[in-house]
Amino acid sequence: MNRIVIVGAGQAGLETAVVLRESGYRGHLTLLGAETHLPYERPPLSKDVLAYDAEITPLDANWDELDLDLRLGCRAVALHDGVLEASDGQLPFDGLAIATGAVPLQLPGAAAPNIHTLRTIDDALALRAALAPGARVVVVGAGWIGAEVATAAVRRGCAVTVVEASAAPLAAALPREIGERTVSWYEQAQVQLRLGVRVVSVDRGVVQLDNGESLAADCIVVGIGVRPETSWLQGSGLSLDKSGRVIVDSTLQTTRPGVVAVGDCAAWQSRRFGARLHVEHWDNAQRAPAVAALTLLGESAIYDPVPYFWSESFDRMIQYAGHGTATDTLVVREASDAGGWTVCWVRDERLTAILGVDRPRDVTQGRRLIADGGRVDVASLQDADVPLKDAVRAPPSSS
Ligand code: FAD
Repeated sequence: MNRIVIVGAGQAGLETAVVLRESGYRGHLTLLGAETHLPYERPPLSKDVLAYDAEITPLDANWDELDLDLRLGCRAVALHDGVLEASDGQLPFDGLAIATGAVPLQLPGAAAPNIHTLRTIDDALALRAALAPGARVVVVGAGWIGAEVATAAVRRGCAVTVVEASAAPLAAALPREIGERTVSWYEQAQVQLRLGVRVVSVDRGVVQLDNGESLAADCIVVGIGVRPETSWLQGSGLSLDKSGRVIVDSTLQTTRPGVVAVGDCAAWQSRRFGARLHVEHWDNAQRAPAVAALTLLGESAIYDPVPYFWSESFDRMIQYAGHGTATDTLVVREASDAGGWTVCWVRDERLTAILGVDRPRDVTQGRRLIADGGRVDVASLQDADVPLKDAVRAPPSSS
């Protein structure tokens, strides 16, 4: 390898460059990014940047040591055998990392200056300017981003309504009975929550719902999910899943040797969970590049993490680790001191996932139990006074 190109100058793209150099790669290295900003992390955009005017700082990197051909404001437009077509010309490569992330879904037909989505620095600054005290804000979607935006908008003195098509918040990520546990958070924060209603149209100042209601809005925020930013790969011959994510194996290699994919745009084969996973969160963007870089350099490495993410809304820290499925049994641990709660997903007496609300110790210990894959005692899981690490069943004695 003497000419590696990384497409996407976000968190996963920059980390891939860092690991390549740390692993001894000394060849030509190009990092191509559609945004004009240096790479930065996105989680603060919906938290301290929106709620508290925090500054957005680029990711820390030793640019001299990285010795990159850094092309900002430059977009990949097509991929052919060994050649990347970019907005500033053709780039031949012998190794390619795809790290083009995701972009927010839009409401069909909704485009006006007061309709916002939140993905980039520019989005965050435009939205922050719109969250004036007293502004009527309608957030479409009660997912992770919707809840965080609602929290920030309330903090800025806005009158906030959240509209959700499903019967409970967080429906895309969590079972209904867990999402329902968060309804009271909206009430406590004096956010109006409309569940089970769809937006039929958005016109500048009015959001029309399918129950006949019209919501007047100074600012509308659409937080209904993302799609992988892989439209430029159409016709490349790479396999994409039905949502457009790049299909990679457990070494993060695509269906073409010498081409890897990482971060929000990729779906990898997890040996641990026996399923194809896609995770649109910080931890995945940070950890996958270590494996992708080694794969590009021809070394053997397997990506098999216990996925992890966090979210902060309504003054609560929510953390999730693992990969729970709809057929797993749910076990709830209620803290006796009213200090949060934890949900465990259990299959065949093994922990597959854990969600903690203000319970970081449970999540840390649960994540370790999931990684170890040992059998757990369900009665102990249920008892919030028993540390999770003590819920492991002793292996049967050999005597
Ligand atoms: P991105 O960060 O999207 O970077 C991809 C880059 O590629 C972008 O800069 C894009 O412009 C560029 N690009 C796209 N197409 C092209 C092209 N054709 N050519 C060149 N460049 C291109 N995760 C958590 O775990 N916890 C949180 O609390 C949390 N909060 C978040 C809050 C917000 C507002 C957002 C948006 C995300 C949050 N996340 C959170 C998710 C996390 O930030 C993402 O998973 C992570 O940024 C993914 O990194 P990535 O490098 O794969 O993609």
